[in-house]
Amino acid sequence: MEDKRLIYLDHAATTPARKEVVEAMLPYFTEKFGNPSSVYTFSQKNKAVITDCRDIIADSIHAKGNEIYFTAGGTESDNWALKAVAEAYASKGKHIITTKIEHHAILHTAQYLEKHGYDVTYLDVDENGVVKMDALKQAIRPDTILISVMFANNEIGTIQPIKEIGAIAKEHGIIFHTDAVQAYGQLPIDVDEYNIDMLSASGHKLNGPKGIGFLYIRTGLKLRNFVHGGAQERSRRAGTENVTGIVGFAKAVEIACETMEARTNKEITMREHLMKRITDEIPYVRINGHRKDRLPNNVNVSFQFIEGESLLIMLDMAGICASSGSACTSGSLDPSHVLLAIGLPHEIAHGSLRLTLGEENTMEELDYVVDEIKKIVQRLRDMSPLYEDFIKGMN
Ligand SMILES: *Cc1c(COP(=O)(O)O)cnc(C)c1O
Repeated sequence: MEDKRLIYLDHAATTPARKEVVEAMLPYFTEKFGNPSSVYTFSQKNKAVITDCRDIIADSIHAKGNEIYFTAGGTESDNWALKAVAEAYASKGKHIITTKIEHHAILHTAQYLEKHGYDVTYLDVDENGVVKMDALKQAIRPDTILISVMFANNEIGTIQPIKEIGAIAKEHGIIFHTDAVQAYGQLPIDVDEYNIDMLSASGHKLNGPKGIGFLYIRTGLKLRNFVHGGAQERSRRAGTENVTGIVGFAKAVEIACETMEARTNKEITMREHLMKRITDEIPYVRINGHRKDRLPNNVNVSFQFIEGESLLIMLDMAGICASSGSACTSGSLDPSHVLLAIGLPHEIAHGSLRLTLGEENTMEELDYVVDEIKKIVQRLRDMSPLYEDFIKGMN
């Protein structure tokens, strides 16, 4: 069989590691394999390398090196943040505030904590996916110990008013955590300016390797150790460091910061082109997420009268990789919790498509994708009894 072209538009699920990232990592698998905890010079050099990487990453969010704790990715960082604060501050209170549109790494951890005696408020969002500040203020209680709100949403791309949320948290003396996995590398982040106390990020969402992430923990937060064992990560998260992952992550961060402005400007141009063509050329569609405050690379659109899953399968046959919600929920028939939270009825939520861009995408690819979507949507609608009834009803 001939190799078909592949167009990858699922960068919110994962991204390819850059060539420079892989090249930076390679020596640490082989000739530079030393365990950073060993005493001899050969290994101590790797300890120094990790310190440098930690500093690069800390700089990227205006934090200090010793506030960065390496983890195995965004999911672990989210678990750690919620569970550690819950445990450490239980004597102050057992109430946590988060939102209905968080990633499952947060939602399922919050549900776990509910089973263990914690009270969780899941804030509603408006029709654009933005957390309502009034609702947040009203939810705060004397026993609230943590507010966890994602920086930007992985499905609909909406960016939250993180600075305002941070200010509210600070005013009430409540710890503020943000899952910045999608925002990191796409938006400038300053933990001091935004009053962020804890922040989760992941390597593979910004052209770094999979299986590496970090949790930023502001100096002064009293948390117990998360993984017990050796003294790595200042004893809070034991285990021999993922040296290759850390080196690759830092390289990816360095490049993401250097290229952020030009890269995201290009993505915004492509995003707007994609949304304009889809809404101009296909009837009965709606764009989901905030029109302006959204990730540079995110397009989320609902097509009436079709199933998103069928659309995905037909796009796949045309060599196009996309998503109908978050990768974690595909396989289940429930519509995305995020789309339901912004008020979409089930049948509209079911017909949704997420296209997330990366810097290797081209306008030419996007035009091909829109042409394919147009054909597929029409074909699926032609097969839909609902669409037939709708058209009959109009005539
Ligand atoms: C991908 C993602 C995660 C999980 O990160 P992993 O590194 O894949 O574990 C968490 N939160 C958000 C918003 C994400 O997009």
